[in-house]
Amino acid sequence: MNQVNKLEALEIPIEQVKGIGAKRGAVLRETGIETVRDLFYYLPRRYLDRSTVLSIDQIPAGQEVTLIGQVRQRRFIPGSKPRFTLVVEDDTDDITCVWFQGGRYMQRNFNEGDELALSGKVELFQGRRQMTHPEYEFVSPAGEQGLMHTGGIIPLYTTSADMKERGLRSRGFRRLMHGALEEFAAKIEDDLPAAIRQRLELMDLHESLKKVHFPQTLEEVRQARRRLAFDELFNLQLRLARLRQERLNQADGIAFKRGEKLGPNIFSSLPFALTGAQLRVIDEILADMERPIVMNRLLQGDVGSGKTLVALAAMLNAVENGYQAALMAPTEILAEQHYANVRQWVEPFGVQVRYLVGGQRAALRRELLAAIADGSAAIVVGTHALIQEGVEYANLGMAVVDEQHRFGVEQRAKLYGKGHKIDVLVMTATPIPRTLAMTEYGDLEVSVIDELPPGRRPVRTALRRADRRPRIFAFAADEVRAGRQVYVVYPLIAESEKMDLKSAEEGFEELQGELLRGFKVALLHGQMDAAEKSAVMEAFKDGEIQVLVSTTVIEVGVDVPNATVMIIEHAERFGLAQLHQLRGRVGRGGEQSYCIMVTDLQSGREGSDAIERLETMCMTQDGFEIAEKDLEIRGPGEIFGTRQSGLPEFVVADLADNEDLLRLARREALRLVEEEMAAGE
Ligand code: ADP
Ligand code: MG
Repeated sequence: MNQVNKLEALEIPIEQVKGIGAKRGAVLRETGIETVRDLFYYLPRRYLDRSTVLSIDQIPAGQEVTLIGQVRQRRFIPGSKPRFTLVVEDDTDDITCVWFQGGRYMQRNFNEGDELALSGKVELFQGRRQMTHPEYEFVSPAGEQGLMHTGGIIPLYTTSADMKERGLRSRGFRRLMHGALEEFAAKIEDDLPAAIRQRLELMDLHESLKKVHFPQTLEEVRQARRRLAFDELFNLQLRLARLRQERLNQADGIAFKRGEKLGPNIFSSLPFALTGAQLRVIDEILADMERPIVMNRLLQGDVGSGKTLVALAAMLNAVENGYQAALMAPTEILAEQHYANVRQWVEPFGVQVRYLVGGQRAALRRELLAAIADGSAAIVVGTHALIQEGVEYANLGMAVVDEQHRFGVEQRAKLYGKGHKIDVLVMTATPIPRTLAMTEYGDLEVSVIDELPPGRRPVRTALRRADRRPRIFAFAADEVRAGRQVYVVYPLIAESEKMDLKSAEEGFEELQGELLRGFKVALLHGQMDAAEKSAVMEAFKDGEIQVLVSTTVIEVGVDVPNATVMIIEHAERFGLAQLHQLRGRVGRGGEQSYCIMVTDLQSGREGSDAIERLETMCMTQDGFEIAEKDLEIRGPGEIFGTRQSGLPEFVVADLADNEDLLRLARREALRLVEEEMAAGE
C-alpha cells in the first residue's frame, strides 16, 4: 500500500497549520496534538443533537438531562456560604445553575451571551428549575452562534484551560479544525483499497475526517467513525496477517502423517466419548500437523472443557510419526497432574512418558536426561525444566504449552529451540474475548472448544457477607460429612499491614480450631517448597485431606472431581478471570457444586467494579461471557497485565463495541494478503 502521500499531508507539524503560531502550537502539543494527523484524530468526545435537546420549559424535574441555552446573568454571592449562580435561558424559559465551589473562577469563565450545553439533574428549588454543579460545555461564545455547526449536530471536544486561554475552546477550536480540514483533507490519499471500501460501503477517508468533525446528522457521525475505526483494525490485522503469511510461506516444518492407530486406539479405550467440540478441534490440529508449515495454534477452552485430551491427541500423533512430544505446565502441581493422567492413558499402549521438573535427585535426573536424549522417552511432561539448558531431545516434533499466560514469549522461544521447526500448541483456559484473541493472537491459528462434556451441572454461586461465615462453614461441614471436599481460598499469604485481610494462615488456624474443628484441614501456600506442595495436593486428591485452605496456588488446572465447595474469602480482591478459574475447580464431578464468594463490600454500591465482578459471577458460568464483561469493566489494556506484545491503542475503535467490524477487518486483511500472494508479491 502506498502511504507516502497520506503520510506527507498528515505528518505536517501542527505549527504549519494556518492560525497556529508558537504559543498555540505549544498548548496543542501539550494536549498531544503535534501533527495534522493528531489534530484530525482529536475526535469529539461526544455529539449533541440539537433536535433532541429538550427546551427548558419541557424539562422534567428529577431527571438527568442535557439542555442548551444562553447565559443571561451570572452572579457571585459571597458570604458564609459563597456560591456562584448562572441563569441560562432559551426561547421557552430559564433555569438557574448553582456552584458552591470555585465561584471567582466561574465568574471569569462565563460571559453573558455564551451558548452552553449543560448536563445534570434538574431539581425544583422554591418552585424554580435549578441544576447544582452541572457539567457544562461551551457551544459558542457570545455573539458567535450558528457558525460551523449548521446541521444541528454539535461536536463537543475535551479542551483544557490552557486551550481556552489561547482561544482554542469551542468555536476557536472548531475554526482551527475546519481550516485544517479545508487545507489538508483533500490531499490525503485514501490508501484503503477501493474494492474493500466498496464491499463494506465505507466512507472515503477525507470525507470521514470531515464528517467526524462537522456532521450534518448522527448517521454521518456513525458512518465516519465506522470508517476510521475500520482503518485502525484493518491496519493491525494486515500486519498480523502478513506475519502469519510469512510463517506459512516458509513451508519447512514437519509434515506429520495422520496417525491411524495410537490416538484412535487410546481414545476408544476411554470410559467416555470425546465431545463434538473436542473432535472438531483435534481435527483442526491434525490437519495443521499434516501440512509442512510450522504450526502455531492457540487452543482456547473454558475450564473443564477437556483440553488435556486434545493435547494428548496432538502428542500421540507426533509419537506415532516417530517424534517426541513435550507438555509444559506452569507449576509442578499441574505438571504432575498432567503426568499422572497422560501416563495412565498411554502407558498401557507401550508409550513411555517421563516427568521432568526442577529439584529431582541427581541420579534420577541423569536417567531422565538420557531417556530424553536417546528418544526412549516418547512424551515428556514437566515445568519450565523442560526447556533448560542441558535438556537435549532426540527429535522433538511437537510441544504443548499449557496455560500460556504464565509463560513469557522468551520461554516459548526457548521451547521452539529445543527441536527443529516443531509444531506448537498453546493452551489457555483463560477465556479470551474473541475480539482480543483476534488482535493479541491474530498471527496464530485459533481453535476453540466451545462445549463442555455432558452431565456437568452449573455451579451454584452465591455472594455472602463475612458475618455469615459460621453458616457458610456449617454448610461446608455438611458437605464434608457427606463425603465431599472443600476449597477455601484467601488472597494473601502473610498478614499485610496495609490491608487488614485475613491471611490463609490465620484462616487456617481459625477453621481448624473453631469452624471446622474435627475435620482434616490442610494449608497450601506459595511459600511452601515444591515437595511440600505436591504432598498436600496428593493428599487432597486422595481424599486424605477434606478441606484445603490455600492462596491462589490452586488457581489453574487442578482437577479433583470430588471437591464440591469453593469458598472464596475477600472475593472482592480477585479479578474476574481469577474468580472464574477458582470456580472452575469445582463442578467437575457428578455432584452439585457450590461457589460461595465472601465479601464485606455492600452489594448495590453503584459504580464499584468489585461488586460488578461478583455480580457477574453470580449471573453467568460462561467463561466467554465473563471475559467479555471483564473487557468491558477493565478495558483491553489491563486484561493481560504486563504484556510483552502490547496491544495498540486505538483512538476510534473500541474492542468491546466493534466486534463485527473487527471480524470484517480481519477477513479483508486475510483476503488482501492472499491476493498479494496470488499476484506473486
Ligand atoms: P481443562 O484442562 O480444559 O480444564 P481437563 O482436560 O482437565 O479440562 O478435563 C476436565 C475433566 O473432564 C477431566 O477429568 C477429564 O478427564 C474430563 N473429560 C475430558 N473430556 C471429557 C469428555 N469428552 N467426556 C467426559 N469427561 C471428559
Ligand atoms: Mg487443563
